[in-house]
Amino acid sequence: MATFGEIPTHLTWAFETIAEGVFATDVVWRMAKERGLKCQRNTFWDLIRNPIYCGKIVVPRDEHTEMYLADGKHKPIISESLFWDVQDVLNARKKAQQVKIETPENLPLRGFLYCPECLKTLTGSPSKGRTGHYYYYHCKSPCKSRFSALKINKDFEDGLMAFLPKPGMAELFKEVIMDATSNDTLNFEQERKRLVSEVSEQNNMLTKLRTMLLSDDIDLQDYKIMKTKCDEKITNLESKLKELKENASEISDMGQIIDEALEKLQILHDLYIEGDISDKRHVTGSIYDEKWTIFENKGRTGKINLAVQLIYQINTAFGHKKARVRTNSGLVPLAVLRSKRFKYDLIRISKILVRKELLEQILQKTEW
Ligand SMILES: [Zn+2]
Repeated sequence: MATFGEIPTHLTWAFETIAEGVFATDVVWRMAKERGLKCQRNTFWDLIRNPIYCGKIVVPRDEHTEMYLADGKHKPIISESLFWDVQDVLNARKKAQQVKIETPENLPLRGFLYCPECLKTLTGSPSKGRTGHYYYYHCKSPCKSRFSALKINKDFEDGLMAFLPKPGMAELFKEVIMDATSNDTLNFEQERKRLVSEVSEQNNMLTKLRTMLLSDDIDLQDYKIMKTKCDEKITNLESKLKELKENASEISDMGQIIDEALEKLQILHDLYIEGDISDKRHVTGSIYDEKWTIFENKGRTGKINLAVQLIYQINTAFGHKKARVRTNSGLVPLAVLRSKRFKYDLIRISKILVRKELLEQILQKTEW
């Protein structure tokens, strides 16, 4: 059993990334290792199946009861729902592997599309015509929904174009986020000082209590009660401090995260067009949080990753401005997008945006 020592941040990251369902578990393991997680592949597979990380312990079955999960006394590093999300992903993959479907090149969106009639996930296959093979996304019996893959694929590619940052937009996107978060740095510092001074207040109180106990001003019973209260307050304050520090470092990394995400967005289209089937599927999973539903033979998604949505909206705002065309395609190797946890960055940005309710602020600033 690994100790909780250095593991938490990397392992938490691994749980979150597996739950996204974009990368294969072994890929997540390798990425976690690059981030600094020290563990072998087999250990990793054990770790992500172990409920201890969401605060549970396994009580083995005995002659009276079946095996069950009990609340542990330790502090969980991930939420219970995240743990079960990961188990769902792992279990679903196990099933998928048993069937083992290979995705043909002409059907890159297979598994990402919902049927508009019955909302089941569409599958796809070739069908033989007079002049060759035609590819279709289609539903399962008894539903008869069927769509030309060529058309849907094209529509999807056109849609991707809308997410490419326009010239000048990347800079604005970064500027407004940095601007909106600059107050935070100040607030964080004030809040940190307040918490630190409260901790030292409680420590002073403890010293005072000890003196009173020694000089018989209070009895042991009262001392114990008051000491417990102080200790509780200190624990509470310290956990707040820790959370504050984490949030502060997230904000201070923002500039770099945004730069990387924007750079990747600029080559997203190229990766989709030129990449192989797994690249195509990776791009799809990065941009869209949900599967697409097809309406009138066109794909429509219910939910786009928030950061991407923001870019899309700023793009639209920029649409009215005359823009000098600057092409970045080809300058950045496609491998960058493949390897550098693109979706993870987008999700981090999204989380900060949601928490800060920044989206509205930023959109207000982009109304010209
Ligand atoms: Zn259907």
